[in-house]
Amino acid sequence: MSGEKTIFKKIIDREIPAEIIYEDEFCLAFNDVNPQAPIHVLVIPKQEIASMAQLNHSDQELAGHLMLTVAKLAKTLGLENGYRTIVNTGTEGGQTVDHLHLHLLGGRSLQWPPG
Ligand code: AMP
Repeated sequence: MSGEKTIFKKIIDREIPAEIIYEDEFCLAFNDVNPQAPIHVLVIPKQEIASMAQLNHSDQELAGHLMLTVAKLAKTLGLENGYRTIVNTGTEGGQTVDHLHLHLLGGRSLQWPPG
């Protein structure tokens, strides 16, 4: 990947602050700066992958790890009544940061369909 670091890569590299709530060898989780629910966490891989569309077969284990991390965090955060996981992809998918991220939203009743 070339060009300027994304804001999430800067968070990984501790160049800008974030409310980091979880970290392991493969991923990082932090509170979204513009929360859309009482709990709004972003789970990102440390590896620079621009979006879900850039995942390939060799990322299978990592992709599973990200999902399992969301599920683990949801439990830790007390979201036993449910939560929503969103991965916006590309322009029409509403993706604004070109580093793969899973939104974990919870703590209120969420409506469907989304906009
Ligand atoms: P998306 O629209 O799916 O690309 O989501 C990007 C998310 O990143 C948005 O919900 C933003 O509020 C969030 N965000 C952007 N910059 C930061 C930051 N510095 N710290 C935490 N969250 C951020």
